[in-house]
Amino acid sequence: MSRVVPDPRAPGAVRAVPASRHPQLRVDRIACTGHGMCASLLPRQVRLDEWGYPVVADAAVPVEDGEAAIKFCPARALYWG
Ligand code: SF4
Repeated sequence: MSRVVPDPRAPGAVRAVPASRHPQLRVDRIACTGHGMCASLLPRQVRLDEWGYPVVADAAVPVEDGEAAIKFCPARALYWG
């Protein structure tokens, strides 16, 4: 059984992740440009390191909150993994 989530690497596309595990918010560290929007939207789960890049402290983000962060990331660097 799987769950369909937006695929940040292909706008408009979706991909399947196993439904047996809670979706984990991930950061594509190559794509991330350190805008910090994710830390503003998810202050309990994401903090910024000393260079302004995100560290996901708790990847078990509520799906609706994670979807918003993925949507508003200007570099399209957030994804469900
Ligand atoms: S919002 Fe996107 S680009 Fe900005 S720090 Fe977070 S992951 Fe990186």
